[in-house]
Amino acid sequence: MKQALISLTNTKAIVLLLLYLGIGLLGIQFATLPQENFAVIGFASGCGLVIILELGKRGIPLVLSGSAILNTHTYYHFLTHSNTRYALPLSLILGLIPAAIDCWQSVMAARAWQTFIKKNHHPPLQTPGDLPYFWKQICFMPAAISMMLWHALLTFSSTIPYTSLLSNLQQMILLIIGDTAGIFIIAPIYASWKSGELENKFRPALPYFTALLFIVALGILVHNYLMMLVLPVLLLIAIHFRLAGTSVALFIVFTLSMMSTAYQTGPFTHANQIISFINLQLFLFSVGLTLHYLALLQELLSHSKIRLEFEVAIRTEALAAANLRLEELVTTDELTGVTNRREWQRRCDEAITYARRYQQPLSILLIDIDHFKNVNDHHGHLAGDLTLKELCRVCSAELRATDSFARWGGEEFVLLLPGTTQTEAMQAGNKLRLAVEELARIRFEDKEIRITISIGVAMLEDSDPGLDCLLNRADQAMYAAKAAGRNQVQCAPHNASCVEL
Ligand code: GH3
Ligand code: MG
Ligand code: MG
Repeated sequence: MKQALISLTNTKAIVLLLLYLGIGLLGIQFATLPQENFAVIGFASGCGLVIILELGKRGIPLVLSGSAILNTHTYYHFLTHSNTRYALPLSLILGLIPAAIDCWQSVMAARAWQTFIKKNHHPPLQTPGDLPYFWKQICFMPAAISMMLWHALLTFSSTIPYTSLLSNLQQMILLIIGDTAGIFIIAPIYASWKSGELENKFRPALPYFTALLFIVALGILVHNYLMMLVLPVLLLIAIHFRLAGTSVALFIVFTLSMMSTAYQTGPFTHANQIISFINLQLFLFSVGLTLHYLALLQELLSHSKIRLEFEVAIRTEALAAANLRLEELVTTDELTGVTNRREWQRRCDEAITYARRYQQPLSILLIDIDHFKNVNDHHGHLAGDLTLKELCRVCSAELRATDSFARWGGEEFVLLLPGTTQTEAMQAGNKLRLAVEELARIRFEDKEIRITISIGVAMLEDSDPGLDCLLNRADQAMYAAKAAGRNQVQCAPHNASCVEL
């Protein structure tokens, strides 16, 4: 009792109780069979599940009191009409029994819901694979078990008259499918609300909901078979607005149809009111099952598409990075990190074609470290490697963006200077030579290694058949620099022959 009071003081609990009463009354008001006195559409069942899921054990007194109020109201109405004495206390007592059964049913459905989450690590109604469990374990089983018990109690207490086994069975089936329908309609709305999708999809789906209202109204008021037109609209809703839109759409269609059927109008009407409601339920379940499946399948498809696009994007990025790395490996020298011989030759061929086409000068430098063997012999190969790297660092710092510096092989380097005459190339060579002499410092095992370079310069001549000839002349010039005492720049004489060295 204390817990019930605490529950009732909670705003969320009050809202849920009012929802339970309001929506439960809707079912009772419009789908209660006068002779049998029980609701054949139990929206309250779905609300009971929602309350237990939201409030846990604290929801039990809430469902109990909500259901007691609804059932007492129904009994009171029934008993006063049949002029029974002590109608109020009697209906209070009678109301508590179905309330306890309803409560048990809600707890069973909520338990099934939680079991699903524990097993699958996500709430039900997210993929088409969740549906069989949802329909059977959450909607049908709790409704079937509780309503069979309730029906047995009603029969044995002679609250409902026993006419024949068949009609008795029909009543039981009506009770079961009534409560199953309640969970079947309300639980998907709850699942969409919890996932935030109801909020996202409600507004954009409004025109479709309006279309549904309009079609159902036409079906009720103008011509019953116009109701068939809800099918394509429901289909579009399932495709575009998934479970969130579908759950609301089914609620709208089902509630309106239930109201009209109660007044014996609309497409489901039959002379026998029981059959009318069975017709309506058959429609609800066949359309609902299909739409649930379609909506979740669509959801799954769009998730797969997003995941696939994401994976493709990641792989494309990885491939681009791998390509870049590959290009780097193919075009750079492994030890020094500067451009390698193959790439330099490619750039030279391009630059020579351009220079010839636009009649521009072009020069190359061949750079060789002086007495490099000594570095290796005195300090070891590792020191030699460090020296090569240091030379590249110093030279690269002196270059312009259009220049192209590369390792030709061993301790020989080349420099392409497009748009540069031989005189300018000599100046550039001397700048490099001085920079290396002054700035290149290799510290190895507490010793400092200093180096100098000799440079051969050659300018592109009209008579040069290609790069080889140019290189050949630069090589001759470099050897001339060596012969003249090293640490200097020499240029190839004009029209020097392309002699193989
Ligand atoms: P010179 O002034 O006449 O050029 O004398 P030098 O000692 O530099 O003579 P040479 O150019 O013939 O020597 C090249 C040496 O460079 C021989 C080889 O051991 C060394 N070398 C070539 N490639 C590498 C390398 O990748 N690492 C190291 N540490 N040494 C290399
Ligand atoms: Mg050499
Ligand atoms: Mg050398």
